[in-house]
Amino acid sequence: MTIQSKLPTVGTTIFTIMSKLAADEGAINLSQGYPDFNGPPRLLELVTESMHAGLNQYPPMTGIEPLREGIAGKVAELYGTVVDPVDEVTVTSGATEALFCAVHAIVRPGDEVIVFDPCYDSYEPAVTLAGGHCVHVPMTSDFAIDWQRAREAVTSKTRLVMVNSPHNPSGSVWTRDDIDGLRSLLALGDIYVVADEVYEHIVFDGRAHESLTRYPEIWAKSFVVSSFGKTYHVTGWKVGYAVAPRELTREFRKVHQFVTFTTPTPLQHALARFLDEYPDHHRELGAFYQAKRDLFVDLLRPSRFAFSPSAGTFFQLLDFSAITNEEDEALARRWTKEAKVASIPISLFYVEPPKQNILRFCFAKDDATLRQAAEVLCQL
Ligand code: PMP
Ligand code: GLN
Repeated sequence: MTIQSKLPTVGTTIFTIMSKLAADEGAINLSQGYPDFNGPPRLLELVTESMHAGLNQYPPMTGIEPLREGIAGKVAELYGTVVDPVDEVTVTSGATEALFCAVHAIVRPGDEVIVFDPCYDSYEPAVTLAGGHCVHVPMTSDFAIDWQRAREAVTSKTRLVMVNSPHNPSGSVWTRDDIDGLRSLLALGDIYVVADEVYEHIVFDGRAHESLTRYPEIWAKSFVVSSFGKTYHVTGWKVGYAVAPRELTREFRKVHQFVTFTTPTPLQHALARFLDEYPDHHRELGAFYQAKRDLFVDLLRPSRFAFSPSAGTFFQLLDFSAITNEEDEALARRWTKEAKVASIPISLFYVEPPKQNILRFCFAKDDATLRQAAEVLCQL
């Protein structure tokens, strides 16, 4: 029996492939984005406490109240907008689930969705499964959005635009001009926004994160998505959330309740209590990762890679043009096997990859791991 695939061009993600190759080859894994250090000890303790306190049955479908309140409190404190924790905040099983539910709440067969390449790999399959069609707009060579091109991509079928700042894989970060650009695009039709802000706390060199929740008239049409995995160094917990105006949240929850229904109870309680006990954790996360970025790029100065230091996220792009002309995917595999350092080829995040020689390296690693990796990279 042959099944007619609904996602015929989709294979296993490059993150899974490179992490497996790194493990098989005993390579330092700077590919898939996750820390090689543990989450805060108190947070781990709180999960155990919650489990022993019997908090192990289904939580409310929308997420436990203290966590939704904590999220609303953070949005008000950081971005100055009051959102209703009852009707406008939903806890999900990772940002991936939130992105999927937001797309499915909005996109109907035949709709067009504007995405920007390089584009995070979960967006297009979600759109395709909803019967929509992604219109890919390339970013500029320095990974900014060309808003003129974006506006030109709008048609009468455009239903949604998906944006991501701080940006994976490039580490670029939006400025106020991007907000104006988005506003000008939204003026062209009845268009909704999914904003992937999972790296919201990881911005460097005094930049401010331009959350769409800062701009009430834009947020009125937006699902703003984030993830506790990045913020608390626990990517495997898969706890995320979506903040959207009540009318959008209502539709979002119709999907969410039949995708996962809920997210593990003890994790939600632990995160709610930790957010309350340690509000400085997220405020200090930018400085924490900036120190890692600085260490990594300083160690790489003598190398043959070209780069500009990442503006946000925990990823650093390195241009290998001075070393080889190989295709990035083949090179990422070869260096994992031979040099024992794994990275992510970024050409896979484009429908039409431009001529460039760039790999993505994750610096969410212990300093010792970064030193070891940099020593190898400096010899290439
Ligand atoms: N969006 C982006 C840009 C990401 O980098 C990631 C994960 N690395 C996600 C979404 C998914 O987050 P989660 O693990 O919480 O599902
Ligand atoms: N977002 C992570 C990265 O960019 C990977 C998450 C995943 O493996 N799905 O590396």
